[in-house]
Amino acid sequence: MAVQPRRTSKTRKNKRRTHHKLTVKGMVKCPDCGEMKLSHRVCRNCGSYKGETVVEKS
Ligand SMILES: [Zn+2]
Repeated sequence: MAVQPRRTSKTRKNKRRTHHKLTVKGMVKCPDCGEMKLSHRVCRNCGSYKGETVVEKS
């Protein structure tokens, strides 16, 4: 088993985690239902896109 040469400092750890984001990029609020959805994609919650219902709820 490998031995880690040095313990990771707080600064180094935090710098590494700057890339960790809570939300996915390109997430916008759906104008129809207010749920978070990917922009330029049909809303997964209500199935609407550009004010039209494209996919009917199953
Ligand atoms: Zn929606």
